[in-house]
Amino acid sequence: MFEEVVPPVLMYHSVTPQLYGAEPFTVSTKSFERQMHWLHHRNYKGVSLKEILEAPRQSSSRRSVALTFDDGYADFSEYAMPVLRHYGFSATVFAIAGQLGNESSWTTEPRKPLMTASQLRQIAAEGIEIGSHALHHVRLTSLADEALHEDLVMSRSILQDISQQDVRGFCYPHGDHDGRVVRAAQEAGFDYSCAVGYSDFTGRYALPRINIEDGDSSLQLWRKAALYWLRWEYRGPGSRILAAASAVRATRSLAAASKS
Ligand SMILES: [Zn+2]
Repeated sequence: MFEEVVPPVLMYHSVTPQLYGAEPFTVSTKSFERQMHWLHHRNYKGVSLKEILEAPRQSSSRRSVALTFDDGYADFSEYAMPVLRHYGFSATVFAIAGQLGNESSWTTEPRKPLMTASQLRQIAAEGIEIGSHALHHVRLTSLADEALHEDLVMSRSILQDISQQDVRGFCYPHGDHDGRVVRAAQEAGFDYSCAVGYSDFTGRYALPRINIEDGDSSLQLWRKAALYWLRWEYRGPGSRILAAASAVRATRSLAAASKS
């Protein structure tokens, strides 16, 4: 089903100066700065997913890694953007079209403000790719056909109006998807979709991602990236064992994601 190598995609959510207790989907500004520095130092360039899908094998002096930020937290503008600017990196932000300016209400982590339309417009003007994270952050597999189609189409049109971009990327809320949801994303005109881990649908419409946590040191980042790439690049003896190990990790990250 997936004709090309799956590109390396890092998954972030919120970036804040301080963490309060267990926040698996928040990275401190300090850790984020350290992780971006590490990528830069290792000759990697942070780019949007659109960019990496357009030129997956582009010969460049810098290797590309897609940086994605789910939910569209307001802290992106304040804390992540200055770091990205500093390194000349880009990224993709998946915003919840019907929740702009509201607070995150679906997570067990402390509620946080989401970007307003004007904040979103501003980062889009700075070259950040805007993708859709649906209309209301509900589990899409629970929606009836018509509601599902409407959710996807409306979210795309709202975000296109605000960002003045052709919104091509979609990201399943809670990583939740099945064959019907995958087809609906294609029919709504999206060019690709992000999942969290691996599934039967892994490919352009269910891209697995590497979840980056606050405690991830450069060594752990390297380990996560190496495992991710091995899963896709390596086809020799033992590749089935690697694939099985990846599936176990994917189940774990999906379980973690479903709690949020
Ligand atoms: Zn989300």
